[in-house]
Amino acid sequence: MAHAKLHIPGPVEVSEKTFKAFCSPMIGHRGQGFKDLYAKVQPQLQQLLSTKQLVYLSTSSAWGVMEGAVRNLVQKKVLNCMCGAFSDKWFDVSKKCGKQAEALQVDWGSPIRAEAIDKKLATGEFDALTLIHNETSTGTMSPLAEIAALKKKYPDVMFIVDAVSSMTAVPLKFDEMGIDVLLAGTQKAFALPPGLAVFVASPAALAKAATAKDRGYYFDFVEFQKNAEQSMTPSTPSIAHIYALSSKLDEFFAEGLENRYARHKKTNQMTRDWAAKHGFNLFPERGFESLTLTCISNGAKPGGRTVDVAKLQKLAKDAGFLIDGGYGKIKGTTFRISNMGDETEATMSQLFAALDNAIKTL
Ligand SMILES: *Cc1c(COP(=O)(O)O)cnc(C)c1O
Repeated sequence: MAHAKLHIPGPVEVSEKTFKAFCSPMIGHRGQGFKDLYAKVQPQLQQLLSTKQLVYLSTSSAWGVMEGAVRNLVQKKVLNCMCGAFSDKWFDVSKKCGKQAEALQVDWGSPIRAEAIDKKLATGEFDALTLIHNETSTGTMSPLAEIAALKKKYPDVMFIVDAVSSMTAVPLKFDEMGIDVLLAGTQKAFALPPGLAVFVASPAALAKAATAKDRGYYFDFVEFQKNAEQSMTPSTPSIAHIYALSSKLDEFFAEGLENRYARHKKTNQMTRDWAAKHGFNLFPERGFESLTLTCISNGAKPGGRTVDVAKLQKLAKDAGFLIDGGYGKIKGTTFRISNMGDETEATMSQLFAALDNAIKTL
């Protein structure tokens, strides 16, 4: 069957070059070849995240590390900041891990604001919080710098941040922000196949994890640190992914990180312009729209155009492009277009030409 190019917000389209790297000959994960591979990507990942800490490679989807962070770092009670499907689910996951958890829920499409977190943390009840930087289900970006600044006021609270759909597309300076965990799955903005997550933890997080008796093994942060010090992972990783990651990181630095960030801004603006041109409103609160995907209102918010989203998707697919028809409780009343990964002004223009044609017939 013909391949429809992925413009859904993850997994995103994977290039042939990346797949070639993915198919490199296999090596042993305790041999020098693997250590050399990890030692090569380590400084690149550290530069990407502006950190002196070791960056870990987890063979799992993002949820593995999201659950792992809760198991490693929550002893008292976790504040789950919730503004969409993924961040809402983190609350359920915390409870499933047997943790005391409280929801800080805002309407879908609204960001999480620092003042709301401040009020909750001031109770002294919490020793950790979870936050999703870029809530992919609603296309909303919460103001991470403003929230991270609270860490100074609450140094003992572990700030656990999911940057699954923003890492590599916008600058994320881990050490400067002073947060405790920053994580991403690599099938979103990294444009790798699904199955690998990367994350980094603060020295305070590692010290706290060491005191958690029920942190398990597979996502034990202490094990990740001990192994990363030897350029290894606790268990056999998806070595194919790490070859692909290495190739991708070379591409990032060849392009230049600043250029990469600017490219995402530009291609995202093109998507917003396309929506406006056709009379659609955006779903997120103004000023907090994601830079890596666009969540377009299709009746979820008052005003703006509505179309038969399923039909639009079908026409787009016939033209060779997969777009998303909305996620969770806003399925159908929103739809989403991703500009993550390798997309350029030229490739986005091809998508919009196809969508222009499709929308004419609706
Ligand atoms: C996709 C996504 C996840 C979940 O990732 P999995 O790879 O399915 O584990 C978590 N958070 C955000 C923000 C996402 O976009």
